Amino acid sequence: METEKRCIAVAIDGPSGAGKSSIARDAARSLGFVYVDTGAIYRTVSLYIFDRGIDPKDTGAVIDALPEIHIALRYGEDGLQRMLLNGADVTERIRLPEISLFTSAVSGIPEVRAFLMEMQRGMAREQSVIMDGRDIGTVVLPEAQVKIFLTASPEDRARRRWNELRERGTEKGYEDILREVQERDYNDTHRSAAPLRPAPDAVHLDTTGNTFEQSRQQVLEIIRRHMEE
Ligand code: C5P
Repeated sequence: METEKRCIAVAIDGPSGAGKSSIARDAARSLGFVYVDTGAIYRTVSLYIFDRGIDPKDTGAVIDALPEIHIALRYGEDGLQRMLLNGADVTERIRLPEISLFTSAVSGIPEVRAFLMEMQRGMAREQSVIMDGRDIGTVVLPEAQVKIFLTASPEDRARRRWNELRERGTEKGYEDILREVQERDYNDTHRSAAPLRPAPDAVHLDTTGNTFEQSRQQVLEIIRRHMEE
């Protein structure tokens, strides 16, 4: 992958709920970079498969449906990334809890990953980005100038997810959420296509017990240090 010289790419990978999205979004705003949430892109593909009633284990049916999917990203005035699926704004629907596990299954299919690869790389060629996901530093942008692997304990991540859902008015038991977090971790790290793992040159950051502000400062520190090198 060749990134044009004037564009900087920051790759932030890690398991679900480690705080990647909120930290990456905030850091991008501070640095004037575009924030790309690749999880939202995978969720959008999966929503289409879900709505069509296709079983994610039916790999052939998922692959056959891919040409019907047109995805676009838009940035609202608030700087938030909005997802369009065949022209319809699905930004809120892709966050439904049932879509999270479904996405974890759909995104293990190599053809789905290949389908989204060029889109992600193209975005990093056109502008400086902070891109978060599972395989950004290892597969999508292996030449990113800065790579961060962001983690937190499963319990800490489940607690954050529980709070997030409550704030959005969805009541769900903590134990169920913890089980889902662990199931997604298992799926994401054990799949053969682009499993979640740190790039050899990634900086590891464990945010367990951190406040948002502490994690945000640490991430900005790492990015600034690497940009100066
Ligand atoms: O980051 P988020 O939790 O929204 O991602 C949803 C799911 O999409 C993840 O559990 C993972 O299976 C998949 N994903 C992926 N590769 C990425 C981003 C997300 O496989 N780069």
